[in-house]
Amino acid sequence: MVTTHETDKYVYDFAEGNKDLKDLLGGKGANLAEMTNLGLPVPPGFTITTGACQAYLATGREPDGLAGQIEAHLEALERAMGRRLGDPQDPLLVSVRSGARFSMPGMMETVLNVGLNDRSVVGLSEQAGQNDRFAWDSYRRLIQMFGKTVCEVPGEEFEHALDEAKRAKGTHDDLDLDADDLRGLVETYKKIFAKHTGREFPQEPREQLDLAIRAVFESWNAERAILYRRQERIPADLGTAVNVVAMVFGNLGPDSGTGVAFTRDPGSGAQGIYGDYLANAQGEDVVAGIRNTVPLQELERLDKTSYDQLLDIMARLEGHYQDLCDIEFTIERGKLWMLQTRVGKRTAAAAFVIAGQLVDEGLIDLDEALHRVNGAQLAQLMFPRFQLDHEFEAVARGIGASPGAASGAVVFTSARAVELAAEGKSVILVRRETNPDDLNGMIAAQGILTSRGGKTSHAAVVARGMGKTCVSGADEIEVNVPAKRFTVGGRTVSEGDVVSIDGTTGKVYLGEVPVTLSEVVQYFEGSLDPERTDDALVRAVHRIMTHADARRRLAVRTNADTGADAARARRFGAEGIGLCRTEHMFLGDRRELVERLILAASDAERTDALAALLPLQRQDFVEIFREMAGLPVTVRLIDPPLHEFLPPLEQLAVNVAVAQERGEDVAKEEALLAAVRRMHEENPMLGLRGVRLGLVIPGLFAMQVRAIAEAAVAVTRDGGAACPEIMVPLVGAVQELETVRAEAEKIIAEVVGDSGVEVLIGTMIEVPRAALTAGQIAEAAQFFSFGTNDLTQMGWGFSRDDVEGAFFWRYLELGIFGISPFESIDRDGVGRLIRIAAEEGRAARPGLKLGVCGEHGGDPDSVHFFHEVGLDYVSCSPFRVPVARLEAGRAAIETTGSDSR
Ligand code: ADP
Ligand code: MG
Ligand code: MG
Repeated sequence: MVTTHETDKYVYDFAEGNKDLKDLLGGKGANLAEMTNLGLPVPPGFTITTGACQAYLATGREPDGLAGQIEAHLEALERAMGRRLGDPQDPLLVSVRSGARFSMPGMMETVLNVGLNDRSVVGLSEQAGQNDRFAWDSYRRLIQMFGKTVCEVPGEEFEHALDEAKRAKGTHDDLDLDADDLRGLVETYKKIFAKHTGREFPQEPREQLDLAIRAVFESWNAERAILYRRQERIPADLGTAVNVVAMVFGNLGPDSGTGVAFTRDPGSGAQGIYGDYLANAQGEDVVAGIRNTVPLQELERLDKTSYDQLLDIMARLEGHYQDLCDIEFTIERGKLWMLQTRVGKRTAAAAFVIAGQLVDEGLIDLDEALHRVNGAQLAQLMFPRFQLDHEFEAVARGIGASPGAASGAVVFTSARAVELAAEGKSVILVRRETNPDDLNGMIAAQGILTSRGGKTSHAAVVARGMGKTCVSGADEIEVNVPAKRFTVGGRTVSEGDVVSIDGTTGKVYLGEVPVTLSEVVQYFEGSLDPERTDDALVRAVHRIMTHADARRRLAVRTNADTGADAARARRFGAEGIGLCRTEHMFLGDRRELVERLILAASDAERTDALAALLPLQRQDFVEIFREMAGLPVTVRLIDPPLHEFLPPLEQLAVNVAVAQERGEDVAKEEALLAAVRRMHEENPMLGLRGVRLGLVIPGLFAMQVRAIAEAAVAVTRDGGAACPEIMVPLVGAVQELETVRAEAEKIIAEVVGDSGVEVLIGTMIEVPRAALTAGQIAEAAQFFSFGTNDLTQMGWGFSRDDVEGAFFWRYLELGIFGISPFESIDRDGVGRLIRIAAEEGRAARPGLKLGVCGEHGGDPDSVHFFHEVGLDYVSCSPFRVPVARLEAGRAAIETTGSDSR
C-alpha cells in the first residue's frame, strides 16, 4: 500500500542530490546531481523521485502535492535560464528523461524538445539566429518522440514519412533536408499524430510536460521493460525517476554535435578513450545508430577546446567514481555540456582487467576489486572461443561488441529467432540495427550481428548485458530483411544458412567454425602460467582468484563420479568431492549383474550378484581416492529406484512378444518383465529409492560400504591417503539412518582394522522432514549435506522435469518467483528449511560438518546464502568450481549482499 502526503518531497533540484541517492533519484538523476555538485557543465534541471512513480503506478494518478512541486521547480528552472517554458519569443525547452535505479538501456522513454509548439518554434528559430532549419528539425523530433512514446503512435509511420521526405529530395542524409522540407514534415507528422490519437498535437507546453512525465512513469511497466528486468533480475517494484532537463542543442549546425564516450575500452578494459561523435545531431541519433558516427578522436580536429575539456572531465570523473565511466555529452556551438554519466557497463573480461588496473593505480584495494567482479562474469570468460585456421576466412569485420563465439542459422526477425530457438536450433539474429522490440529475438539467439551502429548501439549494450555474443556495425553486410537474406562481398547468405561470429574480434565467418578453450580455462587447467603470460585478463583473474581464496570461509568441493572428473575439478581448485554418485557404477556392462541382483530368487543368488559387483565398485573408488589424495570424498549410496536400471517396460514387452511368436525361450525376459511390472511406480520420485532401497534390499548398502572402506584401506596401504564420507540419501527419520549406520559401522570396523583409515557416516538433508527433525538426525549423523534439488522439489511439491516446461514461464511472468528456484535457492522457503536444519543440527552436535551438493552450490546468489547460513562447504560441477570460489570470497567481504550491476 502506497500512502502519500502533501508533505512528501517528490522533486529534487540537481543541486540537492548526489550519487548515493540512486534509490530515490534513479541512476541518471543521482549522477546528474553529482556532476552538478562537482561543478561540471550540466544543464540545469530537476528530478522527480521513484517514490512519485511508485505512487502513480499503485494508484493510477499523480500523488498529492506532486503537481505543485513540479510547478515550483519549473519556475526556479525558468528563472535560472531566463526563459519560460514554451514562451513564443524565447522558449525554454526541456527533455523529460526516465532513469531508474539500475540502468536499463533503451528500455524506457525519453522525450526531447518539450515546450515547442506552432508559435514557439518561430521564437526558437529567432533565438538561434534565424536558424529555421534547426527549429523545425527540433519540432519534428518532438512530435515524433512525443507521438511514439507518449501516445503510442507507431514509430514506423514517422520513419516512413522521414524516408519519404529524403527520397523526394533525392538523398539519404537527414542533413540535406532544409527548413522547408522540415516544415512540411512537421505538417505530415501532425496528421499522423491526429490520425492515431484522434486529437491534435498538444500545443500547451505544460500539458506536454505532464503527459511526458506520466508516460515515463508508465514506461516502467512497458512489456519490454518487464522482460529486460526479468532477464537482468531487477526487482519489479522500484519504479523510475523522471529527469526534467533544460535542452541544449547539438543540432544547431556543424559547430554543434553530440556523442557518447567511455573512459576505458568497455570491451577489453584497455586504457584509453573510446567513444563515438556525431556532428549536427541530437543525442538519440548516436545511441540509435541511425547515422554512422566518427570516432571520438576526430573531435580533436573539429573542436579542440571542447575535446580537451572533455578529456579533462573524463579523467576527473574516473578519479571521482574510481571506476570506468560512460558519458553522454552535447556540444552547442562550441560549448560542452554533460548530459549523463554512470559507472559504465563492461564485458566480463573488461571487469577483471579494469579491477586489476585500478588496484595497480592505487585507486582501489583488492577487496574492492573482488567486489567489482562476479561469478557470472567469470562463467562467461570460461566459454570456448573459435579455433581458426586457414580454412576460415572472415567475410566481414564489424565491431566486437560483446565477446564469445557463436554459430547458428541466420534469421532476420525476432519472431523467427524465437521460433527456431524453440525447435532447439542455434540462431544468429541479423539486423541492420536492433531496437527494443528485438529483445525477445536477442534472448532466443546465440548471437547478434548488425550492419550498423557502434559499441554503444542498442544491440551492443543489450547483448553485453545479457552476456550474448554480438558483432555490430559490420557495414560490408547488406541486410535485406523482406528478402530474408544478406549479401557480403558478392555472396548471398539466406535465412537458415549457418554463420559464425566472434564477439571479441568482430569477425564474421560463413559456416560453422570449431571452437577452442578460453585462456581463462587454460589458466585454471594449469596450462597457462599467470606469472609468464602477457595476457592481461589471465593475470587479473589469477590475482583476484588468489585474493578470493584468501578471503573465503566456505570450502569448495566438486560433484564428480569418476577419476577423470575429480582430476579436472582439482585443477579448478576443488578441495574435495561433495557428491560422488554411485549410480553409474550400476550401468554399462554391469547391467547384467544388476538384473541378476533384482531377479535373485534366493539369498544365495543375491549374495552372488553383490559379490560380483563388489570388486568393480572398489576399483571405482580406488581411482577416485587416488585422484583426491587425502581430500574428503563424500560418496552417496545408491539413490535412484532399481527399476531405472532395467529396460523400459514397453520395449521389454515387445521383445517378449516377438520372441514368443518365434517360439524362442523367453523365461529370462519374462522374469524381467514381471519384475519391471512389479516395480512400476506411479511417483518414482517419491517411491522406493534412497535409504528405503537400502533397507529393503538386503546386502546392497553393505556391499557399497564395504567397497568404499576396502578402497580406502587399499589406497592407504599403497602409501596414499583417503578420507571417505559415506552419505545416506533421502533420509527422513533418524531411525532410517540409525539402522543403516549400525550395519555400516560393523563392516567398517571389520575392514579398516588398524589401517588408520577413518570413515564418516552422514546423511543428505533433502526431505523436508529431515530438515525439520535435524536435531534428532544429527545424533546419528557425522555430517549433513543439503541436497537442494530434491529439497526444492519436495519443498515446493513439484517435480522439476514436469514443471519447468509446463508453467514456470507463467510463474516468472506473474512474479511468483523472480528466478527459477532450481537455479537459485529460494531463500524464504527452501532456504528456511536449510537454516532450521543447520541451527538445530549444530545445536544437537556442535561442530557438525555442513555442506551442500546440487547445482545451487555453483550459483552465485546461492553461494552467498550458504555463506550466511554458516555452511562449511559448497559442492558443484567442476566448471562451476572457480565461480563458487570467487563468490565465496565475495560473500566473505560483503556483509550487505552483492550490488555490482
Ligand atoms: P537513455 O537513457 O535512453 O540514454 P536519455 O534520457 O539519456 O535516454 O536521452 C536520450 C538522448 O537524448 C541522449 O543521447 C541524451 O544525451 C539526449 N538528451 C537528453 N536530455 C537532453 C537535453 N536536455 N539536451 C540535449 N540532449 C539531451
Ligand atoms: Mg542516456
Ligand atoms: Mg536427491
